[in-house]
Amino acid sequence: MDKYEILKTYFGYDKFRPGQERIVDALASGGDVLAVMPTGAGKSICYQVPALMADGITVVISPLISLMKDQVRALIGSGVPAAYLNSSLSPEQYDLALLRMDAGRYKIVYVAPERLPSPRFLEVCARVGVSLVAVDEAHCVSQWGQDFRPDYLRIADFIRALPRRPAVGAFTATATDRVRDDIREILDLRSPVSVVTGFDRPNLFFSVIAPENKSAKLASLLNERRGRSGIIYCATRRAVEDVTEMLAREGHPVTRYHAGLSAEERQRNQDDFVTDRKPVIVATNAFGMGIDKSNVSFVIHYNMPKNIESYYQEAGRAGRDGEPAECILLFGARDIITAKFLINNSDPNPELSAEEQAAVRQEELYKLEHMIRYATGTGCLRAYILRYFGEPGGDFCGACSNCLHTYDAADITEDAKKVIACVSGTRQRYGMSVIAEVLRGSKSERITARRLDRENTYGAMSAYSEGKIKEIISALLAGGYLDVTDAEYPVLTLTAQSADVLAGKRRVEMKVINKKKKEAPPKKEAASKAPLDAADEALLSELRRLRARLAREENVPAYIIFTDATLTDMCRKKPRDMVEILRVSGVGERKRDKYGPLFLDVIEKYL
Ligand code: ADP
Ligand code: ZN
Repeated sequence: MDKYEILKTYFGYDKFRPGQERIVDALASGGDVLAVMPTGAGKSICYQVPALMADGITVVISPLISLMKDQVRALIGSGVPAAYLNSSLSPEQYDLALLRMDAGRYKIVYVAPERLPSPRFLEVCARVGVSLVAVDEAHCVSQWGQDFRPDYLRIADFIRALPRRPAVGAFTATATDRVRDDIREILDLRSPVSVVTGFDRPNLFFSVIAPENKSAKLASLLNERRGRSGIIYCATRRAVEDVTEMLAREGHPVTRYHAGLSAEERQRNQDDFVTDRKPVIVATNAFGMGIDKSNVSFVIHYNMPKNIESYYQEAGRAGRDGEPAECILLFGARDIITAKFLINNSDPNPELSAEEQAAVRQEELYKLEHMIRYATGTGCLRAYILRYFGEPGGDFCGACSNCLHTYDAADITEDAKKVIACVSGTRQRYGMSVIAEVLRGSKSERITARRLDRENTYGAMSAYSEGKIKEIISALLAGGYLDVTDAEYPVLTLTAQSADVLAGKRRVEMKVINKKKKEAPPKKEAASKAPLDAADEALLSELRRLRARLAREENVPAYIIFTDATLTDMCRKKPRDMVEILRVSGVGERKRDKYGPLFLDVIEKYL
């Protein structure tokens, strides 16, 4: 079979996405590849198609156990013989899998990096012949990132130990030059074809909201999105707990995920989410790598992440099925403080010297600046992200909150002077809440007990709400007119620029939304697939019901049967027989044979 037949027969797709075909061609002809593709771009197809074209087997190295299991499940469902080797298998299961691999029963084997040095594994690889090695999350070889995995340093040795050098494909979503260079060098790639696919995800709508009350705003956002699946990211475990509780109280079907939960509970909650028993999950950034849930229709960040890379990776988990989806960032001044705290108190990487450590930290603070600019800027959000990743972004996408609003720059110089005078007058000893209370003229115990009501600036901003004052402090932090310490109870401090403001040498501005919408934007093509009409929507929910039943019976996540994009396409095309149904995107032969009759039945009744 050629690559197109494989794509259609096994995966049910008619054409490759941008970038996929070049990668497939390179790997299939024995060459190396370094592919940088954003989450959801379709990396797996890039090595799965050449795997099915090759004589030998393909070894996929992946750091994530849950990902392997799902990928293998999906492959088997599409008729591809595959298996995984990792620590979740019992010794007996592991032996059996290795035995079958030896007997040539598998085309694709997923393996955790720590298994690579095992002599038995190497022996089997040598015997069956490895045509292709695919390294997933390849940035894990680099010590310059958060995801460094020492086991990844062994990959090159493993490849060298094989009797014939296979084609090597390295895949990552991380785009910085330094990480790319590391991957090339440490994995010892040989003149790799370098493919960087567009980072744009036209079906995603980006917005930034700076609400006075985040939890109230979140509750209303969720009310407007009932029945849809989404992820809510929080910066800390504590926040995950609070937000989960608040949403559960309001009757939302939520579950939670963070590193403080037991392994069993994490697994259970993740399953509840993936199978849509609980369509909304509240999580720290520990959640998501390797979760292939294609129908996530919104990702809300309750706190601002530390950098654009993390933000885009997490937000990019929305809309992987290509349907319209939203990425919403709820921004508040505290987020800057929390992010700085997390950076300055992150676990040191034991592989780095103190000097390198400091350099990494410096770089992270620098990246945080870019994130803050995203959260507080007024230009097109999509363009901002694309430029950050080195792509020309244009300056008007028409599908982000900044493109839909105009902003006024409010002059807040006088307010800024009061805040700075208050921080200075109280000798840089207090955090944001106390400073805000002093400025408002609060009579609370913690103010009077410390005699802060005798400050010159006491009550200087009594006309403002506490939220408004914090918003102003936030703008000052973002602009570098104030800073915070990185202690557990962060304290506001002055910067070199503070004095300039007090001396009247600097004007300070803050963006305020001007409600008026801009001219209707030229609509992007890809962002607007024709929506289904009401009758087709009814069919779609019938098909979903059938899919849910099958998923329960087989005990697999629903998207392993068919993705939402596939069901939607089925509603548009309304196939009447086993030939026509193959035209639906995402229906390959194996799934046609297995599920075709059931879905055709539902469609026929409906017609
Ligand atoms: P990544 O690993 O890059 O995050 P995946 O490999 O999980 O992304 O693919 C994301 C989604 O896109 C999956 O649902 C996949 O089936 C779908 N997909 C991949 N390639 C194609 C294609 N050529 N046509 C249509 N859908 C595709
Ligand atoms: Zn825009």
